[in-house]
Amino acid sequence: MKCTFCNEKAVYNVKYNGTALCREHFINFFEKRVKREIRNQTDLKRDKITISVAISGGKDSLVTLYVLNKILSDRRNLKIKAFTVDEGISGYRPSGIEKAARLCKSLGIDHEIISFKREFGYTLDEIMSIDNTRISCSHCGPMRRSLMNKISMYNKADYLALGINLDDYAQSILMNVVRGDISRYIRLAPHTGIERDGLIPRIIPLRKIPEKEVVIYAILNNIDYDNSWCPYYRDAYRNEARMIINMLEEKTPGTRQAIVKFFDGTRDILKNSYESKDMKRCMICGSPSQNDVCEVCSDLKEINERVLKKSI
Ligand SMILES: [Zn+2]
Ligand SMILES: [Zn+2]
Repeated sequence: MKCTFCNEKAVYNVKYNGTALCREHFINFFEKRVKREIRNQTDLKRDKITISVAISGGKDSLVTLYVLNKILSDRRNLKIKAFTVDEGISGYRPSGIEKAARLCKSLGIDHEIISFKREFGYTLDEIMSIDNTRISCSHCGPMRRSLMNKISMYNKADYLALGINLDDYAQSILMNVVRGDISRYIRLAPHTGIERDGLIPRIIPLRKIPEKEVVIYAILNNIDYDNSWCPYYRDAYRNEARMIINMLEEKTPGTRQAIVKFFDGTRDILKNSYESKDMKRCMICGSPSQNDVCEVCSDLKEINERVLKKSI
């Protein structure tokens, strides 16, 4: 099949708009949407801007770094820094770190690694062997978010960029709707205009790009990413949201974009009329928290108590 816009061979059919695209036109189509998101989510007119990019080594985060660097690297006032959170998951994380480090080296971008072990005293593997009563994500998620914010604060970043594609994003929106969790709904990234003291605003440049297109962009640009899944990953709820959205998308192409459009059109209205709790500071670590003690510190306290009990 030929490209809708030129004589070259098409590499991808865009179901939701009925076009077929060659390599060059696909890349243009991809980057045009990312540029628009960057414009909408950031204020790049300031004197000096640092964007801190969280990279796991997976496709979404590596493509985020690659495309941000391609679009923004000629701006003198802007610096891009990358980091990887090492949760300490043997057999899984090392390969992601290696691929993340390799891409940073080839792009000439600083890459730091921040680890659970050094910051919290335990690897995730150790935490799971101490407490297997909860799913790993309930320990890992808050700890990872806390370190992402910490390293971005340390680097004086203006924005923290995350690799989240359209599929993931539409799922998160739907999950919050189905749970009736308005407070979390209005706090979803991108954080334009709701910056809070001590929290670096998160941006998500790929939020309008379907997962499949992220894969194709990575392949067309020779981005070598880690394809493996976290061995602890169990999110039945997200899997259901994924199945439902995929089913709707199959019947009505454009459903995922429509979900995001609905979110964009409702979030600000909700934000203005919904009273959210003021952020406090954690009494133990000082990081922004909804309660007197943050999720991470109360989790670590519980883990330490379990270790003590075992040793007695
Ligand atoms: Zn073309
Ligand atoms: Zn704390």
